[in-house]
Amino acid sequence: AAKGAGGSTYCFYEPRMSTGAREQVDLLNDLRRALANRELELYYQPKVHAPSGEITGAEALMRWHHPTRGMISPAVFIPIAERFGLINPLGNWVIDEACRQARAWRDEGLRMRVAVNLSVYQLRQADLAERIGEALQRYNINPKLLTCEITESVAMEDAVETMKVFDRLAQVGVHISIDDFGTGYSSLSYLRKLPAEELKIDRSFVQDLGINEDAERVVDAVIKLAQALQLKVVAEGVETEQQYAILRALGCDELQGYLFAKPMSARTLSLWAMNDIGPKDMDFRESLYGD
Ligand code: C2E
Ligand code: MG
Ligand code: MG
Ligand code: MG
Repeated sequence: AAKGAGGSTYCFYEPRMSTGAREQVDLLNDLRRALANRELELYYQPKVHAPSGEITGAEALMRWHHPTRGMISPAVFIPIAERFGLINPLGNWVIDEACRQARAWRDEGLRMRVAVNLSVYQLRQADLAERIGEALQRYNINPKLLTCEITESVAMEDAVETMKVFDRLAQVGVHISIDDFGTGYSSLSYLRKLPAEELKIDRSFVQDLGINEDAERVVDAVIKLAQALQLKVVAEGVETEQQYAILRALGCDELQGYLFAKPMSARTLSLWAMNDIGPKDMDFRESLYGD
């Protein structure tokens, strides 16, 4: 997408507004064309090492620059794509594009882990792991550099089937992250058996840190659980210095949130990583990394 397009904010299609049936049909038709028209782009949000603030990798987040409606949130168009059978073509594009970008960064001298989000429908695709393996080969990427983020609620949904998919992904060699942890209903015995490497604490818990004492105890317990299961633990949605301080003190491994960086274009991310802009350069960051 054009460089200037990144500066716009979500306008008419905030997730909270109910999207009427007519609008959904319009968006669905537009979405069908969006892939071909290069209106979709992956933005990347850094994950940083909690003790040092150094970048460890980035999560790919889909962005849709609609030609007339501006930026449309994935929280709006992904549910539509899922409902109307478009999520697999979109998801396949994400996998390919993230691997292509990882290769481009590698060629620039930037060794960056990349994470992609997977929808429940993608997990039901019989050839998902094979597809991911092919994309990795196409761009000659070490599978360990790719993480698949799967939400806790999806991971726990159909235990037997999900375990098979996880095993196939693990065989390909990619890492698996349990996203939005704390919002689903985990079975601990099942969680223990899952071949995952990472657990991401949902933003709702992070938000309440420093405000609500329960939140701190819950996050402490989740971090200890992750440690007991030998999972790396990441906190999402870190916005304040206070949340950062608490998470660091509790031993959280990695952090993600607006305090460090908003999701940004691939080009901006490579500038960010190359210049090693630290968490203190607030004004500079503000000017560079609008959504
Ligand atoms: P997620 O995977 O849990 O991603 C985190 C969301 O939180 C992102 O929203 C990110 O921009 C936002 N975020 C990060 N840090 C902060 C913060 O400090 N404060 C606040 N308020 N928000 C923060 P985004 O990009 O709008 O994506 C929303 C959701 O849409 C994602 O949640 C994910 O479930 C889904 N999504 C995005 N891209 C894809 C994709 O390529 N495939 C699939 N299947 N789902 C995607
Ligand atoms: Mg995610
Ligand atoms: Mg998440
Ligand atoms: Mg989330």
